[in-house]
Amino acid sequence: MRISLLKLPLFPPAVLVVPKRLPGRLIGLSLGPLIVIEQASATDHPTLIHELEHSRQFWCGGLVLHFLRYWLSRQYRLEAELRAFTLELSHCSIKEQGIRLPLSAGALASGYSLELTADQCQSLLTERLKELQSKTGLLDSSSGLATRGG
Ligand SMILES: [Zn+2]
Repeated sequence: MRISLLKLPLFPPAVLVVPKRLPGRLIGLSLGPLIVIEQASATDHPTLIHELEHSRQFWCGGLVLHFLRYWLSRQYRLEAELRAFTLELSHCSIKEQGIRLPLSAGALASGYSLELTADQCQSLLTERLKELQSKTGLLDSSSGLATRGG
């Protein structure tokens, strides 16, 4: 197991713990200022971005209140995960985005008790990516995102 203090110039401050494996299909999680990512994914920048977004949500969402809302409110959990997955995808190459978008949608549909299908999740993520693109210009308009989803 490796433990690192992340030296990132931006908020939020976080400590990264890297165990060899996490249980089940879990590859990473954020417990506020503590981010845990399994060894095989620890160098994957988009995964780190996803977990850092959850850490930011913890600090900005009222600390323990954020955890309570995340676990008690399906809508809050959906919004938190949409933001994290959208940021994760926005930090992928266009090719990688095409691979990860359906995987992220599948994970969102099956792992968070949201009562949404993978197709619904993919549509939501595609919509959020387009919004982010229009706000920041981070994504290439030729990504083909408009043709995926459904
Ligand atoms: Zn997440």
